[in-house]
Amino acid sequence: MSSLLDGKTLAVIGDPIEHSLSPLIQQAMLDELGIPCTYGRIRVPAGTVGAWLPGAPGLNLAGFNATMPHKTDLVPLMDTLSDDAAMYHAVNTVVIRDGRFHGHNTDGGGFVRSLHDEGIRPKDLRIAVYGAGGAARSVVLKLAAEGAGQITVCCRTPARAEELARASSRVRVVAIGSEDFEKALSEAELFINCTPLGMQGVNSQFSSFDFLDRLPAGAPVCDLIYRPLKTELLKEAEKRGHHVMNGLGMLIHQAILALEQFASMPLDASLMMAAVQKKLVPELKKGL
Ligand code: NAP
Repeated sequence: MSSLLDGKTLAVIGDPIEHSLSPLIQQAMLDELGIPCTYGRIRVPAGTVGAWLPGAPGLNLAGFNATMPHKTDLVPLMDTLSDDAAMYHAVNTVVIRDGRFHGHNTDGGGFVRSLHDEGIRPKDLRIAVYGAGGAARSVVLKLAAEGAGQITVCCRTPARAEELARASSRVRVVAIGSEDFEKALSEAELFINCTPLGMQGVNSQFSSFDFLDRLPAGAPVCDLIYRPLKTELLKEAEKRGHHVMNGLGMLIHQAILALEQFASMPLDASLMMAAVQKKLVPELKKGL
């Protein structure tokens, strides 16, 4: 089967870029599909993506993924923007066709697909989101667009997250530790950690997991972190009888959605998931 990607290259851009898992993930899928295309990594320093972009088609690139610190800078440089990229004001996937740049963002869609894999449908759910950074933004706005009942963003500095509440009437912002925070936890039907607390290589952790005792018994607990595969948060939640999920599903699904854009064709998500997990899980277990 021939594809639009035959003989082309793909890459991830960012800075730092050497630890990006995108080459491993995307190459596993390309190889599984038998597509002759190589996926690499390109270091593009902060503030230089505008100067780098015009030369990208000359690198034989059919497209690229973008990570820190370029996701927002790419927005005004695109010829077209998908609805999701416009909604988050961030681009993580750029398709290059005929010298034009088409910006997409697959983060929120990847997260929702990972919920579906766990049998969780966000529609009408009351959701507590812990943290309000870049990942929380795409997750929260996508969940709101999917019809989640009420999303409470719990963070240290609510003033910095008010913009999320303005974007959707389904979203409100509360301060961690406040009465509203306690109430949001006691009503939550899903809890999502969107902070780096407990991530490998990050020297910070939840100071206490007592807040989990507030959650209703049936509420699943999700951590966007995938390294380690089971964080202390997930271990503590499991001890308390909650269904738990890590961020691996989001990571892989956002990549599958990106490859669908690059190749302009739908992919068998379960086949891609299996091909990636085979390569990725041993890598993630290294050093644990
Ligand atoms: P970010 O933009 O730096 O945001 C981090 C958020 O965590 C901020 O809201 C920050 O609050 C909050 N935070 C940090 N330390 C805290 C603490 N001690 N108490 C309360 N809040 C705290 O990071 P990000 O890009 O959103 O990423 C967040 C996590 O998601 C990372 O672990 C990342 O690996 C993971 N992630 C996973 C995927 C996936 O595919 N699974 C995708 C993206 C991200 P302040 O604003 O108050 O500092």
